Amino acid sequence: MRVAGPAQHTAYRSEWGLLIRPLLGMRDWRYDFKKGECIMFHEDRCTVCGDCLSWCPYIEIDEEDARKEFKKIIDGDPSRVISECVSCMGCDEICPEKANPFSLIIKRQEAQGEFKRFEKAKQNMELAYSMPSEIRTGSEDGPVIDLCTVWPMTPHLFEGVLFEGATFLKGGRYFCGIGFYHIGMESPVEEHAAAVVEEVARCGAREIVCFHDDCYTFFKVKAPEFGVEVPFRVVSWPEFLYRRMKELEERIRPLDVSVAYQRPCASRYTPEKDAFVDDLFELIGARKPSRSFEGVRALCCGGSLVPRDYEMSNRIKHQNLKDAADAGARIMVTLCPMCFLNLRKRAPEHNLLLTTISDLCRAALGEIAIG
Ligand code: SF4
Ligand code: SF4
Repeated sequence: MRVAGPAQHTAYRSEWGLLIRPLLGMRDWRYDFKKGECIMFHEDRCTVCGDCLSWCPYIEIDEEDARKEFKKIIDGDPSRVISECVSCMGCDEICPEKANPFSLIIKRQEAQGEFKRFEKAKQNMELAYSMPSEIRTGSEDGPVIDLCTVWPMTPHLFEGVLFEGATFLKGGRYFCGIGFYHIGMESPVEEHAAAVVEEVARCGAREIVCFHDDCYTFFKVKAPEFGVEVPFRVVSWPEFLYRRMKELEERIRPLDVSVAYQRPCASRYTPEKDAFVDDLFELIGARKPSRSFEGVRALCCGGSLVPRDYEMSNRIKHQNLKDAADAGARIMVTLCPMCFLNLRKRAPEHNLLLTTISDLCRAALGEIAIG
């Protein structure tokens, strides 16, 4: 899977895109020559229908006010939405015109200094860029897995046959920074994008597996939006697990159990991986119950709500877990390690076993027991 010798590619920013913007009369979004269209917020597509805000599960607002408030946001006028938005990214996925409303909201949040309310979280994320970094080298033909800075949250996960021969990239040099969106900041992600892509490319792999859904979204969507070329194929965690389990198919003992799936916020930008989750579930004999908060309607795990509104965070966790339990799930499975940590304590209150998607696979291989 890896190629010999030094990295063949260099990440770069598309400076021409930045230069031509004023000539085209464009405001605070970018022009992408490859796609030939404006990226980020598309004011030309927006009908000011207000659906993005009236749909929002975290802001109480009726349809008329939703239209008024979104018009204010477009015009750069003060709007209560800017401080009430919890940055779940969901409205970018549900907008019927694909106008990317959250991409505008996050810019207004940063301009308004919303992040000043979350100074501790901001400092922690800034420090994450300087966490010690290392490459733990596996076999020449093994997968290369980017663990970013989140692996210490669930260090026990990377054992067993699934990870035989894997090379792991760990530490601050690989920090994608998508967490900054949850405190109303985008600029640090953009500032570090080229350096992070270049650092990962330096390992020389043609294909990089992303353990964290945030990293997958960073390489697939955000870095290209910032004009940074990503010179390797990016593989989501569900795709990696599905491919690996397919190779190990003869060892699978179907679980025959009802499992609710906690879809992470970052999947709003990369929903294509949901198909691998479904295929993986089928392969290992996990049945997804029909839930209210599934797919596009998925709720946040509550983690990004904690620093903003602790009570709302608890309420959302309760609604989410209750919905899964009421639908008949015995297990809830997470893709994102943050979701795992945030829901772990509350799941037993609903008689749910909480586990990660890789541990669910290991259970199907008979390597570990769940529950
Ligand atoms: S961004 Fe989309 S959902 Fe929001 S007002 Fe515009 S068209 Fe409607
Ligand atoms: S990003 Fe989420 S919380 Fe913010 S307005 Fe959109 S749907 Fe609501």
